[in-house]
Amino acid sequence: MSDRLERCRILLEACGVDGIVVSDSVDVRYLSGFRGDDATLVVTRDAALICTDSRFWEQVHAEVTGFMLVKTSGELPAETVAAAAERLGPAATLGFQGAAVSYADYRTLRRRHHGRLRDVRSCVTMLRAVKSEPEVALMRRAAEVSDAAVAAVVRRGLVGRSEAEVAWDLRAEYHRLGAEGEAFPAIVAGGDHGALAHALPGDRVIAPGELVVMDTGARVDGYCSDITRTFAAGEPAPESRAIYDVVLEAQLAGLAATRAGAHGRADVDAACRSIITAAGYGDVFGHGTGHGVGLAVHEAPRLGRTHGDRLEAGMVCTVEPGIYIEGSLGVRIEDTVLVTDDGCERLTRYPKELQVTA
Ligand code: ZN
Ligand code: ZN
Repeated sequence: MSDRLERCRILLEACGVDGIVVSDSVDVRYLSGFRGDDATLVVTRDAALICTDSRFWEQVHAEVTGFMLVKTSGELPAETVAAAAERLGPAATLGFQGAAVSYADYRTLRRRHHGRLRDVRSCVTMLRAVKSEPEVALMRRAAEVSDAAVAAVVRRGLVGRSEAEVAWDLRAEYHRLGAEGEAFPAIVAGGDHGALAHALPGDRVIAPGELVVMDTGARVDGYCSDITRTFAAGEPAPESRAIYDVVLEAQLAGLAATRAGAHGRADVDAACRSIITAAGYGDVFGHGTGHGVGLAVHEAPRLGRTHGDRLEAGMVCTVEPGIYIEGSLGVRIEDTVLVTDDGCERLTRYPKELQVTA
């Protein structure tokens, strides 16, 4: 944690601020170890404060070292600004996280802070992108758990079960396997429902011959995994299999392009997209190719068709191309991988040949 705090302090100069108010709850956890959902940090060159109300004081004592507790009464933004002003003086330039602050809280910051305010954007969040060995170990475990959960659920068959029932089965497996829970609500989408990239599992019953998109992840000690497999519930039509093969080829090309120094947009997304486009499906691959994973299931780096980041060794990200034919079917294949100097290591290892289930 102290190393993380030092890395955050280096940002002060780079961002041209005297202190940073950290409001994003995942960044709060990353920097301080606090797992509660309502605290802000103030990080300056020589102080580190954690501001929260009485619901969390005991938890702060148990989980946080290296930060001074500022006891607030519930006016979190105003009291955080007051604590910052006490350390830095009222004329200081204070950094804040624009994406994590509501408009109402921003107005409070404006009213209460008499110096300059500067949005530090994703600077603090980017600190999380490269993982340490202990973080990778937790993510490896989360990936093993999601592989095992998918295997167990599919072994019980898909035909005749509702999407919601299969989704609940995944959650039950995470519980049995000792995970904290699921990293995000699972997507289980059969047939034409699979064409909705973020479909909600419902009462729809999986019919023979359908493709079923299953997108799920486990959470282990805060860290997430993210895997998608598309299954054939009974023998699929030849066209379904052909589309599956295109997505698989694209996903393998994306993995082959993933390495330290590669660019999320120009290399990895382009590798996937060129194969899907060449097969005639470029206009039905509507989302980006991947995203970073860590304490949050979606975090830096970006691997999209419009935005991408340069990959570094130690980053963990997904590669997840898909094809979605409205009114007919969807196919997506996704792995969570660790970026290395000479390629990437798959953390999710469930097989990718099209599996025909009962
Ligand atoms: Zn996913
Ligand atoms: Zn994903």
